[in-house]
Amino acid sequence: MVLPWHDQEFEQLLSRRGGLPHALLLRGPEGIGKLAFAEALTRALLCENPGPKAVACGQCVSCSWLEQGSHPDFRRLAPETITEGGEGEQGTEKKVSHQIPVEEVRAIADFIFVTSHRGGAKVVLVHPAEALNVNAANALLKNLEEPPPQTYFLLVAHRWHQLLPTIRSRCQHIALPPPDADAARAWIEAQGSKNPDLALTQAGGAPLLALQLDEAYWHTRGVFLRAISDTAFDALSLAEQLRDCAPALVVGWLQKWSFDLASYKAAGRVRYNSDFLSSIAAAAAQLDDIEALRFHRSMISLQRVIAHPLNSRLFLEQLLLSYADLLRGGGLRRAA
Ligand SMILES: [Zn+2]
Repeated sequence: MVLPWHDQEFEQLLSRRGGLPHALLLRGPEGIGKLAFAEALTRALLCENPGPKAVACGQCVSCSWLEQGSHPDFRRLAPETITEGGEGEQGTEKKVSHQIPVEEVRAIADFIFVTSHRGGAKVVLVHPAEALNVNAANALLKNLEEPPPQTYFLLVAHRWHQLLPTIRSRCQHIALPPPDADAARAWIEAQGSKNPDLALTQAGGAPLLALQLDEAYWHTRGVFLRAISDTAFDALSLAEQLRDCAPALVVGWLQKWSFDLASYKAAGRVRYNSDFLSSIAAAAAQLDDIEALRFHRSMISLQRVIAHPLNSRLFLEQLLLSYADLLRGGGLRRAA
């Protein structure tokens, strides 16, 4: 199903069913339901008995093949690690390729030029399109140029600026908006989220990412925040405790934490860690304003560049030592 905040865009697109371009780029922030949109559009394009608004019937042969993942007129190009909702900073790191294999893209040429099994449309779904490396993108480009009639390419991307300009220019862009805060909260609450507000702030307001935050995430975040709430925390042993954590995740936590420290000092409120309000208030009271802000800015810069540091352990140690330094520089009194 398309997510409720995309109903309008979906209806508009289906109303142009006869005149849809053969290549669409569905773009927008990560974790807002772009893939669900592309899948719903795939169902609608392949359905053999669509309803009054061109929505898939859910019952014909095509619909049930798609449901089972065995439709002969459908191809999905995706790296192995990608799951519904997108690839986020959350969760554990997997040592699997994050790229779409070029051989699979090359095989698309054979797929689009043979006759459709059901005599209808053919759909190629690429998710996320930024997982195409240059070779794979060039292989796709050949197919995008002049596909046979009734062939549709649906590209899904949140880092769409990274796509080759030649790919971008051959697609019609559909910008999918994020939900507003109320819609996002209502939706993840309906999906069973126990603490929707806190989960949404952790996920930057993206409901699908918020829903992916599992017990392990909340547990490790709790361990980390409780540790750094203690002003005399031991950076090296904490780094050891977090050895299995993705460094980007820890940087993200420290970035949110330092935002809250600066925000509490300036305005007396926090945005991300409302469950640690008293710890933040205690630390903020003893920190230097400028130093706290400077530390927060350094976390933002770090978050932009960090992907996979060569030595995660060393990276974490340095990161936590720098926070310990901030606490010391702010003149915190240590327990004797
Ligand atoms: Zn159908």
